[in-house]
Amino acid sequence: MTQEFYKEAIQHPIFKLIGETSQELDTDSFVIGGFVRDYLLKRGTPKDIDIVVIGNGIELAKKVASKLKGKPQVSIFKNFGTAMIKYQELELEFVGARKESYHHDSRKPVVEDGSLEDDQNRRDFTINAMAFSLNQSSYGQLLDPFDGLGDLEKKLIRTPLEPGITYSDDPLRMMRAIRFATQLDFTIELKSLQSITENKDRIKIISKERIVDELHKIILSKKPSIGFKLLHQTGLLPIILPELTALQGIEEIEGQRHKDNFWHTLEVVDNISENTDDLWLRWAALLHDIGKAPTKRFHKKIGWTFHAHEFVGSKMVYKLFKRLRMPLNDKMKFVQKMVLMSSRPIVLSEDHITDSAVRRLVFDAGEYVEDLMTLCEADITTKNPRKQRKYKNNFQIVRKKIVEVEERDHVRNFQPPVSGEEIMQVFNLKPSKEIGIIKEAIKEAILEGEIPNEYEAAYQFMLDKGKKMNLKIS
Ligand code: ATP
Ligand code: MG
Repeated sequence: MTQEFYKEAIQHPIFKLIGETSQELDTDSFVIGGFVRDYLLKRGTPKDIDIVVIGNGIELAKKVASKLKGKPQVSIFKNFGTAMIKYQELELEFVGARKESYHHDSRKPVVEDGSLEDDQNRRDFTINAMAFSLNQSSYGQLLDPFDGLGDLEKKLIRTPLEPGITYSDDPLRMMRAIRFATQLDFTIELKSLQSITENKDRIKIISKERIVDELHKIILSKKPSIGFKLLHQTGLLPIILPELTALQGIEEIEGQRHKDNFWHTLEVVDNISENTDDLWLRWAALLHDIGKAPTKRFHKKIGWTFHAHEFVGSKMVYKLFKRLRMPLNDKMKFVQKMVLMSSRPIVLSEDHITDSAVRRLVFDAGEYVEDLMTLCEADITTKNPRKQRKYKNNFQIVRKKIVEVEERDHVRNFQPPVSGEEIMQVFNLKPSKEIGIIKEAIKEAILEGEIPNEYEAAYQFMLDKGKKMNLKIS
């Protein structure tokens, strides 16, 4: 192995301190994993730093913390033999070097103390197994037993040991391989890819939370389709997100075809990723068509239909989140709302774009109208340049109209200009359905543009409506 040194990577005084402290404890320590990889990739120097110690990680962490300004707290995870210090903007994780051996009938490895090499052997990928020495005699030296550096250049995801062993020992690594391939735009070595395919069913023993963490990272990558294609290719996708796999395929009956909604969806996700970093809006793009699989029908006269797929899809979002143990909170509701409304702007832009239709869109989408437009623009995947231009242009018109209508009518966070109490007082009513009818009529009149969204106009409208309903003014 050539001796390469990267002292400039570990200029931060904390590294020197860790090196000196481990020397006092008569042991060696190294920075390892993501920090080294990202530094060598020129992705910057990450704030998460993993330190491996040939000895006791917790002891070293305590001693380092005691020397730091402000004596930061050490969080100890005894079960894992790790300790964490938050210092300035850094998160330092200390672990003793270990040797792991797995038995097929258990996911829990037998862990023993080990050497640096043992520790590097148990790491998932060659590019994640590289370390920089923090020891005085070799400060900054790169320790790279599996030629991770070469793999960085080749843009290759490769396991240090036999892939079959690596993935079977910890099936989460299958998700990690695909996640790193997506984040870094790397290729997974063929042997590895085959092994993931063979071991795909073992993903079932991994907790949903950890799978979802990796999915989030794939979705947040620059080009998420890389990851979804790999999930699809290896057969992991039908296990994790069968709703997406179900969108695959083109059917043809009597010469009528529909598009392949799986590949379309991946394009939409890539498109939206150019315009937003919002995880949940990206999830919405991923799921916007899932209702199309169960609603697909063929009609002799009109061809393929996906009737009410938006509604069905939004219901499926709930089940999917629940199955993956994702929180059933406002984020989920947001995704549901985007799926439910995902065809609205398109339908609107196909027609002559009226103010009242735009007002209804803004009313229904509320604060999320911008996000909805972003989703719908990403949904344009036609390869026909004329259609492409037409749709984009129409969406520009819709966007302009949204601004105009909003300035005039303020329906985005609609509050009824006349309250139920006021209606009760004016007509001397007890709580009753008449009040609901009048309120609804006022709202409709505003959305239709018959009256402006203002108190005076709404009050007058209420009086007229009451009269028509034979109500007496008290
Ligand atoms: P990022 O922080 O960007 O996700 P990372 O490489 O730092 O990337 P972490 O999950 O923080 O990933 O893990 C730190 C290091 O621990 C990795 O670089 C790798 O060496 C090792 N590692 C993490 N998870 C596993 C695993 N499941 N199997 C083997 N080694 C792992
Ligand atoms: Mg990390």
